[in-house]
This record gives sequence, structure tokens and C-alpha cells, in this order.
Amino acid sequence: MTIVSPLVFHPSPAPGPRDAFGRRMNYLRISLTDRCNFRCVYCMPAVGMKFQPREELLTDDELVRIVGLFAEAGVTKLRLTGGEPTVRPHLVELVRAFKSFPGIQEIAMTTNALLLGRIAAALKEAGLDRVNVSIDTLDPVRFRAMTRGGRFDLVWKGIEEADRVGLGPIKLNTVVVRGQNDHEVVEMARLTIERPWQVRFLEIMPMEGVGMVYDEGLVTSEETRQRLEAAFGPLEELEAPPADPARLWRIPGAAGTIGFISPISEPFCETCNRVRLTADGNLRLCLLHPDEVNLRDAMRAGATDEELLALIRGGIWRKPWGHRIHEGERNTVRGMSQIGG
Ligand code: SAM
Ligand code: SF4
Repeated sequence: MTIVSPLVFHPSPAPGPRDAFGRRMNYLRISLTDRCNFRCVYCMPAVGMKFQPREELLTDDELVRIVGLFAEAGVTKLRLTGGEPTVRPHLVELVRAFKSFPGIQEIAMTTNALLLGRIAAALKEAGLDRVNVSIDTLDPVRFRAMTRGGRFDLVWKGIEEADRVGLGPIKLNTVVVRGQNDHEVVEMARLTIERPWQVRFLEIMPMEGVGMVYDEGLVTSEETRQRLEAAFGPLEELEAPPADPARLWRIPGAAGTIGFISPISEPFCETCNRVRLTADGNLRLCLLHPDEVNLRDAMRAGATDEELLALIRGGIWRKPWGHRIHEGERNTVRGMSQIGG
């Protein structure tokens, strides 16, 4: 595994506030809620999941104000995530408000798609551009087990409706977990032969509360790729957009593509262009580091827009680089559903 040294890194010419290593942050991922209608085995513990009191979460007005400030600072792309973003009340109105900021060029959403069939058209009309859907298996029984109760038929309808209303190109995210769905990656990848979709295989990360699933379940992207090549023959490597964490491949002749996201075996810190806003209003500088800037408390204490912008820029400046998960480090503190994966 290689982590490019920050010392040899050159400032990026892209828009957005800059960190001390020269990386530009033009992409904000927003956790709209820490709640979810699933309990995926790699994301939440089976029991004992604690949700934050509602008054600790950002209100709609607070969220819109913060997004406006990030847009002013140079952020051009948003991703709505969670928890499950579709369980946040007023989601359609929030999308419309976010899209009204002139700097915001693109809004994407990562969702489990359970409720997407009902609201995809309204979200598209409000300004949502694309969705990524998390789906780990095509087997309804295993789906129910991995999500602890999820309905595969409704999720599949949600994906088809998103495709129909133009929330594409559809990307499907599959976390590969040894002993659970690792033998199904071939069937997932086969979806790309006829459909112009991207099926992305994610390495599991050791998030708070589910570290043992990681310890037993990590499957590297290399292992998954070898499994696919054993079934389909050599995959063609494609060039991915510069800040895309996925390495892209294609089954020869397929309509869609296959992505590998490898935060453990091949960290992508040198091209990182993103920061996160947690549901309780903290600017989270890196998914895998606990360093955060509390924008909510500053806002509730009466901070002006200039003061909040200074907090945002100052936080981004100290964005960390690298992690030591492969050496056993665990400093996540929050679960994935609280940070917004
Ligand atoms: N509920 C939405 C969903 O599942 O798409 C959005 C939130 S979820 C936390 C965002 C992404 O994080 C999903 O694609 C999910 O598969 C991924 N994820 C959750 N826990 C993970 C873990 N421990 N390792 C890697 N990816 C994880
Ligand atoms: Fe919910 Fe998404 Fe986490 Fe699954 S991965 S429990 S759908 S937040």
C-alpha cells in the first residue's frame, strides 16, 4: 500500500477552500440525519444504537445557512447522505433551497432507496442530479439479513424509478463482507453488462460499533477484482475523473462500469477534495479522523456569516492526511451513519 507523501504534493488549481497540503475542497457531504430505516451489519450495531436528540441536529434553516456559506467559500458539489437521507422531513424543499445557491452546480444523494420509488420524481424536479444506491446483494433473503430487515423488492423499484426519472447515471455501492456477500460480487458486476450503471465495490471500514465485522470481513479490492476476472476474463482499466475515489474497470463490451473504492488497501488522500457536515452541525475534516469544527454551537451562540466562514476555512486548512487503520488504529469515535459515509 502506498500513501503519497504530502511533501511532494502540489496545490490543486480547482475551486474551493484550500488545506495546508494544497488540496482544494469543492465537495461537501452532508449527513441530513443520523436515523435510518435499515441496520446494515457493517454500519450499525444490532442493539444499542444511540440516536442524537432532535434538538442537537441542525434545523432546516441552519442547514440552508451553512450550505450557503460553503457555496460562498467555493464548494460546488453536495452529496446528501446520512443515516438515511430520505427519512429527513422536508428533503425535497431542502434540495430546492440548496440548489438555489448560484455556486452549487451538482447535488447527489447516497441512499438505501427503500423510499426512493415514492419521491424520486419530486427530488429530480427540485434539483437533485444523481443518486448512489447502497445494495450489497441481489438475494432478497440475504438482503434482509445484511440490512436487518430491509425489503429488496422496494429497493429495486426505487432504483428503477430513479433511473426512469433521470437521476442517473445510476451508481450502486456494494460493501463486500467476507462470508456474507463476497461470493455474490460476480452477480452484482453482471448488472453492468446490459445496463449503463456503475457497480462499485467498497472495502469495509472499521467504524464505531461495528469493528468486529471489519476484523472478520475485510475483502480487499484486489481480491474482488481477481474474483471478477476469474468469471469474466481480464477487465479493461478505464480512466476515472481525477477526484473520484473509485478506480474504474469494465467487463469487455459491457454497457456500464465497475468501480473499486479501496480506503484500506489504497488510500486516496492525495486527491481528496471533500469535507463532511455531520447531522449535528460539525464540520468533519476527514471520515477517518475525529477532528471536527462545531459550526452548530458557533451559529447558536450568534456567530456572524464572516465568523462562520472563518471557522470553515480555518478547519479546512488543518484537514488531516492519511490513516493507520492497516496498523490497527481505530479513532473513528462516531459511527458511519452519524458522520455521513
Ligand atoms: N443510508 C444511505 C446508504 O446506505 O446509502 C447513506 C448513508 S451510508 C452510511 C453511506 C455509505 O456508507 C453506504 O454506501 C454504505 O454502504 C457505506 N458504509 C456504511 N458503513 C460502512 C463501513 N463500515 N465500511 C464501508 N462503507 C460503509
Ligand atoms: Fe442505514 Fe445506510 Fe448505514 Fe445501512 S449503510 S444502516 S442504510 S445508514
